[in-house]
Amino acid sequence: SRTQWLQSHRFKTTSPKNFTDYHSLMHFPKTPVPPLFNFAKDVLDHWESVEKAGGKSSQPALWWVNDRNEEIRWSFEELGFYSKQLANVLTDKCNLKRGDRVLLVLPRVPEWWLVNIACLRTGTVLIPGTSQHTARDILHRLQVSQAKCLITDQSMAPLIEAVTPQCPTLTSKLLLSNKERPGWGNLAALIKSASAEHVCVNTRSDEPMTIFFTSGTTGSPKMTVHSHCSYGLGLTINGRYWLDLTDGDVFWNTSDTGWAKSAWSSVFAPWTQGACVFAHHMPRFDSKTVLKTLCRYPISTFCTAPTAYRMLVHEDPSRFQFQALEHCLCAGEPINPEVISKWREITGLDIYEGYGQTETVLIAGTFKGMEIRPGSFGKASPAYDVQVVNEEGTIVAPGTEGNLAIRVKPERPFSLFTEYLFAFHTYFFIFIFYCACFCMIYSLIPCFYLTGDRGVMDQDGYLWFVGRADDVILSAGYRIGPFEVENALIEHEAVAESAVVSSPDPVRGEVVKAFVVLTSEYKNRDQNELIRQLQAHVKKVTAPYKYPRKIEFVDQLPKTVSGKIRRVELRKKEWGLS
Ligand code: ATP
Ligand code: MG
Repeated sequence: SRTQWLQSHRFKTTSPKNFTDYHSLMHFPKTPVPPLFNFAKDVLDHWESVEKAGGKSSQPALWWVNDRNEEIRWSFEELGFYSKQLANVLTDKCNLKRGDRVLLVLPRVPEWWLVNIACLRTGTVLIPGTSQHTARDILHRLQVSQAKCLITDQSMAPLIEAVTPQCPTLTSKLLLSNKERPGWGNLAALIKSASAEHVCVNTRSDEPMTIFFTSGTTGSPKMTVHSHCSYGLGLTINGRYWLDLTDGDVFWNTSDTGWAKSAWSSVFAPWTQGACVFAHHMPRFDSKTVLKTLCRYPISTFCTAPTAYRMLVHEDPSRFQFQALEHCLCAGEPINPEVISKWREITGLDIYEGYGQTETVLIAGTFKGMEIRPGSFGKASPAYDVQVVNEEGTIVAPGTEGNLAIRVKPERPFSLFTEYLFAFHTYFFIFIFYCACFCMIYSLIPCFYLTGDRGVMDQDGYLWFVGRADDVILSAGYRIGPFEVENALIEHEAVAESAVVSSPDPVRGEVVKAFVVLTSEYKNRDQNELIRQLQAHVKKVTAPYKYPRKIEFVDQLPKTVSGKIRRVELRKKEWGLS
């Protein structure tokens, strides 16, 4: 039943901290789920009553700070109060009905969390965007989603006004600003004057809840629809088992508000456990500010991107006097073993890796108490049956490279996305494509959802990332994963970061090429000599055939807004493609 489900998975005030046998402790039914579920009502309001009854630690639900030393701390009761007010604004002032879509483009401000919860309460579908969007991005999002309401701040308003004449479905616009702007409702003023009496919509578990854009690492970002249960219930896995949170923890996740990782780690996962969501509104990622914040506040758990850890380990170790930090995590990209070991050297703490997608919750990870095998992102999460399969959809033997896949038959896990949403004109092409591929793909790989990533599972169930399927290099009959070569390169003290891609070669077809960002001490060295050194180094630390025959030094690597390396861009440049 719903109550049993919830009781056994979310409302524990203790978490399996430091357990030793994670498999025996993780019981997570992949299905069925309760027919009705709403995160605001079933989780947040629950924590509010626990808080009122004195059954919770004194940590707030949301702890927000910025660079000007301003601070906001909201309890679950306050979060409930303001979000109910905003829910009334959405239904009464914006005339939104259950199922209507709301585009939200706000940076890390407290109102971002209120909109998230108000959408849950009203059954409206949230589409988070980022302040780094261009007018074209916004137009695309508004037109494809047919959003009825848009919420943003002053910085984005002119850009949005330029495209809204082409968006007839958009009927209301709310602005977070202390100035009035014609054509916009003032978000803060409307919240303030609204009633806090609101009855939460009784949403079905399979009803659309949110639409997230993928990061756009391999191509155009895809719009991914999630239901109330896929993230709302599914992310319990992340909160309880991977983040290892309890209601006494203060958890800081640095990801931008526009990406699924913010739903994972700044909304659902920590609040399933009643933990405090900490947020620092930094205009952009700055290593010194991050370290200062970790020292100044009682942050117990910290999650950031591998690219951020790569920057942090170059900071002065005397800055690392943390107040309460005990658990560090990363996700979104592979993390180099070298960075894990440097972080351990400086802080005494391990980095626990997580692997997942916008389309999923945590697919695999290293969990507390588990042996960390650097280079592996851990074992399958109990949310999914994860396998490595070949092109025919057959599970391959341990140690063999294949497609990382999630079993979806006989039962599709509830914590998987519902569908991709496409622009109307692309439906036609997709339809044709599917008609052509359906019989073949469906008959060949009927049981699995393919992640698009390649990997290996070892005898003990640890998963090793090889690369995105498109990034794997085929040179003179060898398959080479870029991650392994990048790991070898970063071990050399001249390398701050690198991206490895295929490059055309008349003899071998393609060869390994590395784009390397040098550490400051090596910037002015003789480049030809450095190339020779780096090649010799890679040949020494990994199989010699993997060494980069071509190396180019660059000031920075092309990255997505969320900080992921876009190898696709470098590869296209190499192959002379636009
Ligand atoms: P797009 O699908 O638009 O190309 P994207 O795949 O980067 O972008 P996300 O859903 O944000 O969009 O990222 C999921 C992908 O990130 C995974 O498929 C995988 O390639 C990569 N990834 C996430 N975590 C890890 C990890 N720990 N190790 C290796 N790769 C990871
Ligand atoms: Mg993807």
